[in-house]
Parts: sequence; C-alpha cells; structure tokens
Amino acid sequence: MSTLILDRRHLLRLGGLALGASLAPWSAAFADARRLRRPAPLIMLDPGHGGIDPGCIGASGIYEKDIALSTAHEFARQLVASGRFRVKLTRADDEFVPLPERVARARAAGAELFLSIHADALPEERMRGASVFTLSEQASDREAAALAARENKADLVAGVDLSHHAPEVSDILFDLARRETNNESIKLARDLVSELGQRVRLLNHSHRSAGFAVLKAPDIPSALVEIGCLSNRQEEALLQSDVYQRRLATGLVQSVSDFFDRSAKI
Ligand SMILES: [Zn+2]
Repeated sequence: MSTLILDRRHLLRLGGLALGASLAPWSAAFADARRLRRPAPLIMLDPGHGGIDPGCIGASGIYEKDIALSTAHEFARQLVASGRFRVKLTRADDEFVPLPERVARARAAGAELFLSIHADALPEERMRGASVFTLSEQASDREAAALAARENKADLVAGVDLSHHAPEVSDILFDLARRETNNESIKLARDLVSELGQRVRLLNHSHRSAGFAVLKAPDIPSALVEIGCLSNRQEEALLQSDVYQRRLATGLVQSVSDFFDRSAKI
C-alpha cells in the first residue's frame, strides 16, 4: 500500500512538473489523505540506566539515570505537543530495564525511531558538550548476524515476508534492510548534531559510532544522545535546570521533525 502511495506521489510530482501548478491541489489532497489514514509515527524514547543502575555520577553526586529520565519526559511532552508524533518510553520511572529488553519493547510497540538519552562522564573535567552516537558498522554486522541466527528473519524486516524465499535471498534482503536502517540512523544523527548545535554546546567529536546494545534494532533507525557531561561542574548544573532541559528537548524534537520531513514519512 505504501509503495502504491509513493508511486502516486512521484507521478503527481512528475505531472506537476509537466503541467505547472495545476496538479498541486491534487498532490496536497493526496498528501492530506495519506496523513489522515496513517497513525502518527511512534517515537520510542529510552532514558538510560535506572533502578539499581545509576549510570555515571556527576561531579556533585547527581545520577545520570535521573537527568536522563527528566529530560526524556520533557522531550516526550514536547513531541506530543507538536501534534505530529506518538511517544512511548522504555522506562517511565526509576526502573531497571536490561538493554536487550529496551530494543524488544521498541520493536514490539512498532516504533519508527529509537532515541536513547544519556549523559556523559569524561576523564577530563574541563571537557563538556553534547554528542550523538550511532551503531558502528562493525558492531552492526556482528550483532545482526547473531540476531539473524537467533530470530525469525521475517519478523525482523517489517512488512516483508521472507519465509518463502531461499535462505540466501532472505539473507540478502535482511542485510539490505539493515544497511538502509543504518543509513537512516546516520541521517538522524546529523539532524541531531545540527539542531542541538544551534542550542547547546557540543563536544568536538559530536558524532561517533560504537557498539551500543540499545542501537542494534536492525529495522528501527536509532541514535544515542549524550546530552552533556556530568563530569563538568558547569554542565552538571545546567543539565539539572528546567530551562536547559527544555532547550535540549526543543532541539531533539526539531531533529525528529527534520528527519521525518526529509524522508517524507509523515
Ligand atoms: Zn549512560
């Protein structure tokens, strides 16, 4: 169905080029109808750590798990207020949730985007700033192979039934889907760096990749945001302020909007 709609939109776009503005109202009507038919995209927010796991501990003793949770709640509030997105949290309070369970909750809910919220602690106290992580290709390959071996691949490529294909074909399709997800994650990370960078200080290396377990869903674009450094006293104080958390959340919401605007998923 989505393919059909996409084709229609492309045809309308081509038609619009050929016939000038005359098709524009129809194109807008199709876009409106598509928006009405489709539920708003579900964004899964993942406040890092929780329960017995405090995460890193700030210069004056503040816990990462608390900063991550309050920022995620503000992020959720602003996402819902935008009227464009639905939101779920992997944890809504001080709960310990194992890392694979966080990804499982996102996939079970049908999330279209996964954003994990953390705060950093760096060895050098003077270092401060937000940064964004995506899954490294190496980690992605290794993990995806293990995941594919464990699970039914048909379940991993949303909307594509691989069960009637030969194993070699489903391997290729699965790999294509995973690579496409990785590409989308990198675009998301660029949006995050760009929007956060207009509002808060960033680390010098603001986009990095690593083998984080929570970024390993092969079918959901995912990124992990370190919203700042608790090891820096000034930033630790900022991260506790409502004003700063609101500013961070505004940048995060704008990044999500940019991501969906560009990929025309809404
Ligand atoms: Zn963390």
